[in-house]
Amino acid sequence: MKLMLHVAPGIVRHPLIASVILETEALVNIERASINAVSGEIVLEVPPEKVQEVMEAFERRGVRVVPLEIPVIRDESECVNCGACVSICPTGTFRFEDWRVVADSGKCIQCGACVVGCPQRALKLVLK
Ligand code: SF4
Ligand code: SF4
Repeated sequence: MKLMLHVAPGIVRHPLIASVILETEALVNIERASINAVSGEIVLEVPPEKVQEVMEAFERRGVRVVPLEIPVIRDESECVNCGACVSICPTGTFRFEDWRVVADSGKCIQCGACVVGCPQRALKLVLK
């Protein structure tokens, strides 16, 4: 499962991910990270059996953790199945199935590229 970490000012310079990996022994994968001197937003892929443990370890360190269950939503009444999002998405979230575009939300890392690229403005990130 993917987790979104919101890292607040004051702790952004701490070795948060390394210390959580050492504590939980979870094989996490960093899928996206936007970090600057004052805050950060990180998407991690975490093995299902370790999700709860990893969430609690980050929360004890002051990190806000949000599971990315439905990261992007589509307005079906606006979508014309043009396929632009199929080409744009770096993680292969969208694909064609019987000439319709379908989504596998579990692959989304909330990069926002499809939202900008959709000619119909049919896609929206779920922000928490
Ligand atoms: S880019 Fe927009 S309109 Fe085109 S298939 Fe994707 S969601 Fe639908
Ligand atoms: S936000 Fe859109 S382009 Fe980015 S990973 Fe998710 S579905 Fe793909």
